[in-house]
Amino acid sequence: MSAPADRTAWLQGGEAACKTYQPYPERAYRMVLLGAPGIGKGTQAELLCKRFRTCHLSTGDVFRAAKSSQGPLGPAMQAALGYMQRGELVPDETVIDMVRERVECLKCDYGFLLDGFPRTVQQAEALDRMFQETGLVLDAVLNYELPVEKVVERLSGRRTCKDCKTTFHVRTMPPKVEGKCDKCGGELYQREDDRPESIRVRLKAYEESTAPLKDYYAKTGLLITIQADGTPEQVFEQTIGALRDRGKA
Ligand code: AMP
Repeated sequence: MSAPADRTAWLQGGEAACKTYQPYPERAYRMVLLGAPGIGKGTQAELLCKRFRTCHLSTGDVFRAAKSSQGPLGPAMQAALGYMQRGELVPDETVIDMVRERVECLKCDYGFLLDGFPRTVQQAEALDRMFQETGLVLDAVLNYELPVEKVVERLSGRRTCKDCKTTFHVRTMPPKVEGKCDKCGGELYQREDDRPESIRVRLKAYEESTAPLKDYYAKTGLLITIQADGTPEQVFEQTIGALRDRGKA
């Protein structure tokens, strides 16, 4: 278990509680990750979580967990999975309600790295309201950028572990044993939304809906833009350097 908390509360919502495995970090880091799908955000999230001992809160992971759960799903979640399967964004209201239900995860002393949320200005405004209500302050918004053709190359080679959700890349970060997760031995698969037809829809949706977030967060002074070209370690060092420059690491 590399994550400081197991994320049960985030993934399952409701009454579900996390079992923590490590002492709390000295300080809770609260950050948002932005970047087109396939840009390497997941890998950076993993490295950042290790460094800051914080939790990786991905809204996409909540939907995927719901999809593979045995229990009954409410109508809003069922509809949300339909959007996800088609590679479209889930309506703002549904995602905002889902995050609001998990507001305790935002307040957690492990801090958080929000990934995949907010994705629209409306979601960012809703998140700001949650911060105001809880007295929380965001440390930074890390915005990763990369040319479109490189994003496509990265995405189509991505493989995800069915069990622990760790991601690999067939060329740049292959697992030690083909088709098997290095961490837990789980089976690797290509996520439905990593298939070419879904990728195109997702990149377009990203441009249309998410790019305005950059302007939104630039105005708050929280936006840190990082060129995601290079090895995961290089990009990570750039990220830490940028955070340090702002007195945040
Ligand atoms: P991700 O793993 O972040 O790429 O998310 C996978 C899919 O979940 C997306 O393509 C959307 O269908 C849905 N999704 C996740 N987060 C959001 C969000 N904040 N707003 C709308 N849809 C989302």
